[in-house]
Amino acid sequence: MKHPIDNYWQLKLHAVKDNLEKNNFEVYIADSAAAAKDLALEQIIPALDVKTVSWGGSMSFVATGLFHTLMEDKNLEIINTFDKSLSFEEMMETRRRSLLVDLFITGTNALTEAGQLVNLDMIGNRVGAMMWGPVHVLLIIGRNKLCQDMEDAMFRIKNYAAPVNTMNLDKKTPCAKTGICQECASPDRICNYWTIIEKSFVKKRIKIILVNEDLGF
Ligand code: SF4
Repeated sequence: MKHPIDNYWQLKLHAVKDNLEKNNFEVYIADSAAAAKDLALEQIIPALDVKTVSWGGSMSFVATGLFHTLMEDKNLEIINTFDKSLSFEEMMETRRRSLLVDLFITGTNALTEAGQLVNLDMIGNRVGAMMWGPVHVLLIIGRNKLCQDMEDAMFRIKNYAAPVNTMNLDKKTPCAKTGICQECASPDRICNYWTIIEKSFVKKRIKIILVNEDLGF
């Protein structure tokens, strides 16, 4: 066999796709970040009546190149929650407005083999939009986010994703220095809202592209 690792992940991703579909998610598999972008632009988004688009923090989404392409689309109204030039008040207002768009794009911190989405947010706008508000939600999920079960997912988030995220965001938290969560009381703490999404309601409202590459943290 030429590509055993990719083959292994193909099997794992198809198994979790089946479970996600049982949980009413609409699921696609892409071989790469570039293929995920093409799938979104050529198949998923054109099938929706999308006029307004926004997103929540996701390295996976940015890694596909989809973010930069959508930013240049003059036919869409973009509510850009990644705009670092905004004041705190403007940033919060932008995130509030992002809850009523036609399409909200983001990722997930972890995905269980049973097809549950597990997340831990600082502000809550990302998980809020995943659960309610935007007409459609699109999640880009790299294979590295797949966890055996809920316990594994929560361990991954608290012991890997959160510390790495604080490092990436230059947060002043203990974990950014040590790599170890110390359940801080820092104003920069990013661990405020745990959420578990078991199923998509309305059916297929949440669309997922599983990517056979490591993406994000
Ligand atoms: S609770 Fe604080 S120390 Fe722990 S991972 Fe979150 S930000 Fe880091």
